[in-house]
Formats: sequence, structure tokens, C-alpha cells
Amino acid sequence: PQKKIESINLLLDKTMSLVEHHTSFHDIVVVKEYDPKLPKILIDPSQIEQVFMNILINASQAMPTSGRLTIQTGVMEQENVLYARVTDTGMGISEENLQKIFDPFFSTKGNAGTGLGLSVSYGIIENHGGTIEVASTPGRGTSFTIKLPIVVNGD
Ligand code: ADP
Ligand code: MG
Repeated sequence: PQKKIESINLLLDKTMSLVEHHTSFHDIVVVKEYDPKLPKILIDPSQIEQVFMNILINASQAMPTSGRLTIQTGVMEQENVLYARVTDTGMGISEENLQKIFDPFFSTKGNAGTGLGLSVSYGIIENHGGTIEVASTPGRGTSFTIKLPIVVNGD
């Protein structure tokens, strides 16, 4: 896997352009709140794109009729860490399921889901030295926050 210095804002835009025509994005309002000064970082762009794609599609599928998808980026105060946060106004995740969503093959989508998206995403973010956190309120929505170290060279 080839690491490159990339803009997370541009990668989020690129990923959105790939998924926004998916029918699950019908009637979803997308709000982008990007930090214009977000530093570029060393990542494997195709892997991080895969993570964003899964999280964005999951969010859209949690809002089958309508909803709002908010995509935010920023730098953590006092830490050499940046974040990308995807928040939906969808069905949310029960406390019981919240313990299982990163497990391989855990899915509530029947034949429509493999249950691999978040477990693969977890591994990718871990390999980048980052973290992936979830907060959810059933009936209100869910927020996934990916934090990545601000690393600009590979040594
Ligand atoms: P899949 O999408 O194939 O079901 P994932 O690993 O991507 O597998 O997600 C696992 C499960 O986590 C989903 O089946 C769903 O129950 C839950 N989940 C993930 N993202 C969201 C979200 N934004 N809102 C509600 N539930 C979610
Ligand atoms: Mg998924």
C-alpha cells in the first residue's frame, strides 16, 4: 500500500462524488463543515477512501426517507491529530448493538449487508495510527469520528 500526502477535505469530496448518486442518498441534505486550514497528512488514500465510503453509505442507509448528513473536519486542540466526523439524523444504534458494530459479519441489514465495512474500517484506521469512535442516540442519529495523526513523513 502506497502512502501519500493527501488532503482529507479533498478525499471526503471525492468519496462523496462517488457515492452521492447511490439511491440511498435521495432526499438527504448534505452539509459540509470543513476546516479550510486542515493540514495534509500521510495516508494510503485508497484505504481511507474505502473507510469514508463505508461510513457515508452506512449513514445514508440509516436515513431511508430523508435526513441530514453533516461532514466535518478539524484539528484537535493541543494534539497532533485531525478528525473527520460524519453525523446522520437516522435511526441510531441501540446500546446493545453499539458493542458489536465493529465485529466482523455483524449486520442488521440481512442480505443487504456483509457486516464487514466497519470491521475493515477499524483495521485500516488502526494501521494508520488513528482511532474511530461512535456516538449514537436511538431515534435521533449517529456520529462517527475518525482521528488520524498529523504525520507528514514516513520515517
Ligand atoms: P453493513 O453495512 O454491511 O451492515 P457495517 O460493518 O458497515 O456492515 O455496519 C455494521 C452495522 O452497524 C450495520 O448493519 C448497522 O446495524 C450499524 N450501523 C453502522 N453505521 C450506522 C449508522 N450510521 N446508523 C445506524 N446504524 C449503523
Ligand atoms: Mg456498511
